[in-house]
Amino acid sequence: MKKVYTSENRFYVGNIRNLLEAQGIASDLRNEHVSSATGEVPVFDAWPELWVEERDFERAQYIVEQALSPVDATPWLCPQCREENDPAFEFCWNCQAEAPASDT
Ligand SMILES: [Zn+2]
Repeated sequence: MKKVYTSENRFYVGNIRNLLEAQGIASDLRNEHVSSATGEVPVFDAWPELWVEERDFERAQYIVEQALSPVDATPWLCPQCREENDPAFEFCWNCQAEAPASDT
């Protein structure tokens, strides 16, 4: 497998994971400081990582790039919790509320 994305904000990682999943790409959420498959508690300051199968990597990378590209770079405010969200996200990273419909 290959690492396709990492961020200090695990909510961002979760959102990217949702985007990949919506495209039919399964991903593993990993943390480099956690030994695998034993259910250990993650280290707090470790960054979560998203890993995908090698055959999905290029497509996943493209999706991540699209999601992170600053083309439509206006962050939106969550109508529910007032958190600022990356424009690529369809759901609030904080409370999972749906993004308000945009006119553009
Ligand atoms: Zn919210």
